Amino acid sequence: MFHVKQDRLEEVDSCPVCQGETFEPALKAIDHLVSRETFNIVRCHTCGLLLTTPRPVLSAISGYYQSDDYISHSSSSKGIVNRLYLLARKYTLRRKTGLVKKTAPGAKSLLDYGSGTGDFLAAAGESGYRITGIEPDQTARKVATRTHGLELLDPGALHSMPAASFDVITLWHVLEHIHELDQTVKAFSRLLRPGGVLVAAVPNASSMDASWYGPGWAAWDVPRHLYHFTLEPVKKLFANHQMQFVKAKPMYLDGFYIAMLSEKYRHSPWWLVKSACTGLMFFIRSVLRKDMASARTYIFKKSGQAVTGAV
Ligand SMILES: [Zn+2]
Repeated sequence: MFHVKQDRLEEVDSCPVCQGETFEPALKAIDHLVSRETFNIVRCHTCGLLLTTPRPVLSAISGYYQSDDYISHSSSSKGIVNRLYLLARKYTLRRKTGLVKKTAPGAKSLLDYGSGTGDFLAAAGESGYRITGIEPDQTARKVATRTHGLELLDPGALHSMPAASFDVITLWHVLEHIHELDQTVKAFSRLLRPGGVLVAAVPNASSMDASWYGPGWAAWDVPRHLYHFTLEPVKKLFANHQMQFVKAKPMYLDGFYIAMLSEKYRHSPWWLVKSACTGLMFFIRSVLRKDMASARTYIFKKSGQAVTGAV
């Protein structure tokens, strides 16, 4: 599926959603956070999935997360962007647990994949779910233990847990980071009971902010984001594994955060004021046109009989 270009980079040869092998160039984006390197984003000719290629191999990707600014993995309150982000996170946490409750009424067991420092998982636990969390980053796992008393599992656990173990699986801005995408979605399908719900929030590559900032859109976030999702490819990815699309919900605050980062990367004068204005514009647009929100939460329902056996 891939061939290694250099020691640390691999070229994606076939689409993880449709196995198509023809790609057309879409844009070039810069890694503003860590390496300053430029990465290509291409579009699958068959299904339209946007993906980053060449991309760091799995063993090299951790080097691209080595930034104090990578706040998805830290609880640092330094800097105004981080402070605003932490404030927004409080609201978002409430919204996430509310959304799960509404989407999967009566659900008892919840798996959160890519739990980071465990903020959502802890909130889900407080809401009464029997919780399990998986997180590849060892430092984040330690923070989750220290701050919430959570024991998060290594991603290998995904393949050793019994089939149909969970009523709900959640992925909050995680899907776009997964190297073995098809295999991992297959594993989610095995772990979800028939009728169970999967909730996946991802940046929206067809959002207003994506077209406004073009290659400077902060949510390309290359090379950490390996895929850049829109509705049709994401529907097909899950349909391939017996999970049918139910609905998509907009994430209203993401536009402000992405506007802040995008203006900061542009070195705009008055970047904070500017991003408050553009963020407001994206917010209003996403209220009027929910499919143009900066990020969307996709909800899928597992159909058919439980798939048994190891993946
Ligand atoms: Zn494809």
